This record gives sequence, C-alpha cells and structure tokens, in this order.
Amino acid sequence: MFEADFLVRDAASQAEFVRLVTKAAEIVCQAVPKGPFAGKSPAELRHLISSELLPNTAQNWDAIADVLRTVIANSVFVGDPNTIAHLHCPPLLPALAAEVVISTLNQSMDSFDQAPIATIVEQQMIRWLCHEVGFPSSADGTFTTGGSQSNSMGLLLARDACVNQHWNWSVQKSGLPPKARLLRIFCSEVAHFTVEKSAAQLGLGTEAVIRIEVDEHFRMRPAALGESLRKAVAEGLRPMAVVATAGTTDFGSVDPLREIAEIAQEWGAWLHVDAAYGGALLVSSQHRDKISRIEFADSITIDFHKLFWQPIPCSAFLLRDRRHFEAIKLHADYLNPESLEEEGIPNLVTTSLLTSRRFDALKLWISFQALGREKLGAMVDRTVALADHTANFIRGTPQLELMCEPQLSTVVFRYIPSSVRGANCFNFQLRQILFQEGIAVVGHTRVLGVQCLKFTCMNPATSEGQIEELIRAIVERGKMLEASKTADSE
Ligand SMILES: *Cc1c(COP(=O)(O)O)cnc(C)c1O
Repeated sequence: MFEADFLVRDAASQAEFVRLVTKAAEIVCQAVPKGPFAGKSPAELRHLISSELLPNTAQNWDAIADVLRTVIANSVFVGDPNTIAHLHCPPLLPALAAEVVISTLNQSMDSFDQAPIATIVEQQMIRWLCHEVGFPSSADGTFTTGGSQSNSMGLLLARDACVNQHWNWSVQKSGLPPKARLLRIFCSEVAHFTVEKSAAQLGLGTEAVIRIEVDEHFRMRPAALGESLRKAVAEGLRPMAVVATAGTTDFGSVDPLREIAEIAQEWGAWLHVDAAYGGALLVSSQHRDKISRIEFADSITIDFHKLFWQPIPCSAFLLRDRRHFEAIKLHADYLNPESLEEEGIPNLVTTSLLTSRRFDALKLWISFQALGREKLGAMVDRTVALADHTANFIRGTPQLELMCEPQLSTVVFRYIPSSVRGANCFNFQLRQILFQEGIAVVGHTRVLGVQCLKFTCMNPATSEGQIEELIRAIVERGKMLEASKTADSE
C-alpha cells in the first residue's frame, strides 16, 4: 500500500496537508529577501540550483525546505516598495487563501462534470463583469490566462467574423482564405506588442498590423485612424479590427473610445478594447469616467493579475455578442457532446481556447467579498494618487526629467547626466545597476527613441515618503555613475 500523498478521506492526510500548507506559508514569510531582489546574476543563480531535479529517493523535508528558501530568497519580492517596474502586483491575502482552495479542489473548468459549481461561479462572474462594462444581455466571456490570450482571442474572433461576413468563408473549417493577406488590424503606436504577436499566430503576419500615431498624451489620434482606414480601403485592403487601448502599459493612456468606436463602425471593423490595465477603473469612484464608452467595444480584455491584485493567472475576455463564440466551438464526445448542450448543461470548453483550465474566478470573488467595492476602488485610486505624487516629486528634482503627465499609475522619466553624453546609455546602465545592487526593480522603456526609467505604482500600501526615498536613492546612484564616468574619461 502507498501512504496517501494526496488529500484523501483520512485524518492523517488532512493533518499532513494542513501542516505542509502552514509550513510553506511560514517559509515564505521567513525567507523573502530583505529588499526587492538579492541581485544575483543568471550564472550565480545557476550555481544555486545544485540539488538533483528528480532524485532517486525521497528527500527529507528539512532539505526540501532549504530548496524552497533558496528559491524564495532569490525571487523579486513583489511586496517591496522598491519593486516598481512592471504591472506586476503584490497579491491580496484573501486571494492567496483562495488559491489554496482552488488548487486543492483542482476543478477543471472545461466540463461541468469536472467543475459543477465552479462553472456556475465563473458564468456569474462573467455576467457581472459584462454588466459592469455596460454590455447588453447578449454578452458572454471567459476567464483566460492573461491579456495576451484575451487579446489573441479578440483578434481571432474578429478575423473569423470578418472573413465569414465578407467572403462567406469559415476559417475554422477551411483555414485562411486566399484573400487573408488583405486583412488589416489598426492600433496605436503604443498599443501592446501582443497585437503583432496575435497577428503572427493568426496567420496574418505582423505586417497586417498598422500602427496609428498618438497625441502628446500617447492616445491614438482618431483623425489619423480614420485617414489610415480610408487609405487601406482605397488600396483594396480589408480592415478587420481596430484595437483601442484603455490604459497603455507604459503611459496608462486611454485612447478616445467614443471617436474610435464611431470610426471602427463606419468602416465595418471589429473594435477590441485592450483594458488589461485600465479595466481596474471599473471599480474606481474617482476615475471610472476615464474608460467611459468601453461598452462600445465588440470585445474587451481585462486583467485581474494587475491592478486587481490577483495572483497570476487571472484575466477575462468579454464578448458583446456571444454568437461569435461559434467560431471556436467544436464538440468532443468525452467533454461537451451536443446532447448535453441540448439539456442545458454548460461545458465551458466550448467558449475557451484551452481545455484544462483553472478556477481563477474563485479568487477574484473571494477578494471582492473580503474587500468590498469601496476598498478595492480606493486602492485603485490610491495607486493613481501615488503616481501623481511621484511625478510632482520628480518635477522638483533637478537631475530628473518627467517625460509626460501620469494618466494612470505609471510614471515615465529619466536621469539627465550633466557631464556625460549618451543619456540613453546612461539611463539603461543606471537601471541595471539599481537591479544588480538590489536597490530597486525599476522599469525601462523608450519614448520616441529616448531611453527612460519607469515606475509602475502597483502597491497602495507604499507611502509618499518611501517613493521620495527611492527617488533620492536613484539620484544618488546616478551621481555616483556620473562621477565614475568622469573619472574614466580623465
Ligand atoms: C499587461 C498587458 C497585456 C498583456 O497581458 P498579460 O496578462 O501579461 O498576458 C496586454 N495589454 C496591455 C495593455 C497590458 O498592459
């Protein structure tokens, strides 16, 4: 007989389960790095992984705990105030507790007989989200692994709808039509790179994506979009989709949704709104109006593993007219036979690109329960306020230049070295030094060819004082770097 290494119906396995989960939580708390990151290089980290991956016999838990401690101590600590690079959040405690339940139950969302109540919870959460964005009752959606998958799904359904409508052709059945090379996708210059990635995967190629100019606040210029669509159609091309971004990754800018929706409609193009980041404004009392008219979309991406503070993965894809899901529907006799559908039994594999899939809706629901709308909204508002404070402080710091006014919770700026040329190289190097010395994990991006530093304020628990301290530390390190360069060149 094997002793049960699973949670089964006996007291021993249950006691062991509680002991291990508690132990794991204790180890995480003890072993997290003191700063944002311990600063080890890839080579140094390779050396740390010395234990065999699959030993012949079981190791004792003291040894296993050491392995865990090594991993934890060399991870980026997302709860540190100086971890401020990406849309990468510290997860909510209630969501972590829910993760234990999600993984323990191990419900797989593809079929009702693997996930009965989970199916209903996900459907209700999707219905609620559709209502929050302002979609009509025809809407539906699905949980996905992230904004990348949600964007890809939006463009896949857009492609299939367009090809079906104009060329009476089923991509699902017959593959891409001969005229597929005429399809075009329009998005702004600062839209997420997954637009190109999706176009490539959808068999259209990255050249199918046309990037539209942005204004000084990094929002798509509607006039430029209209002109580009007109030109494309005049050239015999077929506009398949417009992707508007509600919260760009670098600037938090929200494209003018009303104007873009009107233009997309005029040219018969599907409107996908990438609200991976800005979707969190749905629960904000101060900034909800920044994403007003999001309901004009045909499909929407919202990430919960960003400003909704969920552990990865947690994201949704919302669809205005659920009939478009037909484009990806296939029946598997063992999962979702048509006979069950006729009986009204929902099998969510029908509306997902995935088969086995996690019950991520639960952690979102539990987080909503534990916090309530007011607190969650206040947390979103707090990150926006922190970004404003950061921008003001940077404006008052002579060595730094603010690149634009923050629009959500990101701040893009750079260090202006006085005595060295090559500010781009300098800022790139400065960011690497901050990371390698374990001072801060700061973001970087390029704005019109200019290398910049970026803060993404994700932690509402960070204080203004901590932000100021971080900025002073960056300036101090920047001055040291300047001094070392001056010394080198003498
Ligand atoms: C983060 C992000 C994505 C990608 O989402 P993942 O969840 O990382 O796959 C897409 N679009 C925007 C605007 C984003 O900020």
